Amino acid sequence: MDIRIGNGYDVHALATGLPMWLGGVQIPSENGFVAHSDGDVAIHALCDALLGCLALGDIGHLFPDTDPKWKGVDSKLLLREVVDLIHTKGYKVGNVDITIALQRPKLAPHIGTMRQTLAPILGVTHDRVSIKATTTEKLGFVGRQEGCEVWASALILKD
Ligand code: MG
Repeated sequence: MDIRIGNGYDVHALATGLPMWLGGVQIPSENGFVAHSDGDVAIHALCDALLGCLALGDIGHLFPDTDPKWKGVDSKLLLREVVDLIHTKGYKVGNVDITIALQRPKLAPHIGTMRQTLAPILGVTHDRVSIKATTTEKLGFVGRQEGCEVWASALILKD
């Protein structure tokens, strides 16, 4: 059996008055992420995990932030492109696991919607999409509400 694993990590800074997109879902918040794209830091970490499975580089390489094509782009489109790439290499997604560190707002009410949103893009059922959220107990840049940190793991299988 040919299985591959990958991990991804991303950080985005928070600023007032910007929309907050996380896991493909808009979260009601007075703060949002500073970014060239929509700033969905969870999807970015997930894309890097998937790309890592096949040593395909990272999303900065695939979708450079110097390219106006990706300005304000819905990160779900980037994830779709990455999944397509995995498929063209003859693999399918097995499961993914994402951990989001954010001080506030509380993400628990949105986790289910995120899983339901990402699963069809990944081509899996939502029970193969794990999303966990934690605060950092007010410690560090996450705790000071300066930014959000996300770790993602992915497993893919030869189709
Ligand atoms: Mg990013």
